[in-house]
Amino acid sequence: MKFQPKASHFINGEYVEDTSGAPIDVIYPATGEVIARLHSATPAIVDQALNSAKAAQAEWAAMSGTERGRVLRRAADIMRERNRELSIIETHDTGKPLQETLVADATSGADALEYFGGMAASLTGEHIPLGGGDFVYTIREALGVCVGIGAWNYPTQIACWKGAPALACGNTMVFKPSETTPLSALQVAEILIEAGAPKGVYNVIQGYGDVGASLVTDARVAKVSLTGSVPTGRKVYAAAADGMKHVTMELGGKSPMIVFADADIENAVSGAILGNFYSSGQVCSNGTRVFVQKGIKEAFLKRLSERLATAKIGDPLDEEVNFGPMVSENQMNIALGYVEKGKSEGARLVYGGERIEGDGFYMQPTVFADVTDDMAIAREEIFGPVMSVLDFETEEEVLARANDTEFGLAAGVFTNDVTRAHRIVAGFEAGTCYINTYNLAPVEAPFGGSKMSGVGRENSKLAINHFSEMKTVYVSMNDVEAPY
Ligand code: NDP
Repeated sequence: MKFQPKASHFINGEYVEDTSGAPIDVIYPATGEVIARLHSATPAIVDQALNSAKAAQAEWAAMSGTERGRVLRRAADIMRERNRELSIIETHDTGKPLQETLVADATSGADALEYFGGMAASLTGEHIPLGGGDFVYTIREALGVCVGIGAWNYPTQIACWKGAPALACGNTMVFKPSETTPLSALQVAEILIEAGAPKGVYNVIQGYGDVGASLVTDARVAKVSLTGSVPTGRKVYAAAADGMKHVTMELGGKSPMIVFADADIENAVSGAILGNFYSSGQVCSNGTRVFVQKGIKEAFLKRLSERLATAKIGDPLDEEVNFGPMVSENQMNIALGYVEKGKSEGARLVYGGERIEGDGFYMQPTVFADVTDDMAIAREEIFGPVMSVLDFETEEEVLARANDTEFGLAAGVFTNDVTRAHRIVAGFEAGTCYINTYNLAPVEAPFGGSKMSGVGRENSKLAINHFSEMKTVYVSMNDVEAPY
């Protein structure tokens, strides 16, 4: 098979197989062809991976931050050198066009490795003077073994966004990719070893949800970082709470994008395209509720339809193609099911809505107008290329409606009124906000959600606090006074 890795798992610096685990077929979404067969981790594999991470952790944490950082930065360089090869694997794993994977996956993973690699040497505690000579100092310590569990939309990026800050702080990791996209995390593990990481620092095991669940409850694990849906997040958070483990939850969303009549329509249409159709709409922070102010609605829809008609849909390996298949038949059917719901709820289908016939899991980019707040397509995360356009009249009204959701991952506003832009983002109940753009996630900026969309933040300096903890040391320079 075309993309068959040496084995299913990567533990203690090498590939490991155990064919008694349930088979995992890796399917190329553009053709439906099986490109690799892996096996889910058995309890023995889970045990081996956790033991390996546990054994490696003390040595890794004892290295200087400069040394750890050097390993991560070397790994970033290797990833960039191999960007094309890694992007081709990512395209086969996810179906995302090569045009996208070349610039958004291994490159984004490399950015995280470089950023946290650069930061590793400067991770410190602080000195707190108390008067009378006494003082406190704090020691920033690693948490221990961290578990990363990934979704299938950005497999390389997620493996690095979790791995890089964890390793920078002196933790080790066991990462479980989604069984839909198991290939690229193995590449990340291999590259880290090549870059000089000690064996066992970054392990990858495959598996379905049950493998993730067994990692989350294991006593050897100090922290769990999940990227996934809200229902999975709820289960994982609850399971982690039992062992009082640290958590980061990057979950789903149904984010609003507000377009005021004074906005630059061309930019707003570009933002709506990026925020709904990039990666065939399979992006957690997508702005899938597009509120367009009355007066510009028809102009907005007309320009959007014209631009969508120029999307190049087809073979994701063709670098001219900018809209590929969905990750799986199942995900395509979920999205097509929402198209039917939208129609039956009375929304107006203004673009797309059909499956594209063939062996691949393709559907058209789809736009509904006249969507109302109570429709399922406006309330539920679809995770596919289905945009809902809703009308609004006033700023006050739209902000209340934008926030009327259990989710709070992202939100965006397009307007040329600078004070209104800041007023709106101040009112948004969302972790990641955009003014006059959408869906950018540079490693320097915190990324994450509020409300049901998550706990904690990835990227930026903040991620360090989620992968380390402070030990407080009180130092007395005086005699000890006791009451008796
Ligand atoms: P899922 O929630 O179905 O799965 C996420 C991961 O958790 C998978 O690896 C899955 O394994 C694993 N898992 C499932 N059940 C359990 C369990 N009980 N214990 C431990 N692990 C478990 O999400 P998808 O993979 O379908 O990804 C899509 C979702 O991810 C969307 O809701 C999307 O919004 C969200 N997402 C959020 C992002 C963010 O940063 N906020 C970014 C990208 C996606 P398996 O696949 O084998 O079931």
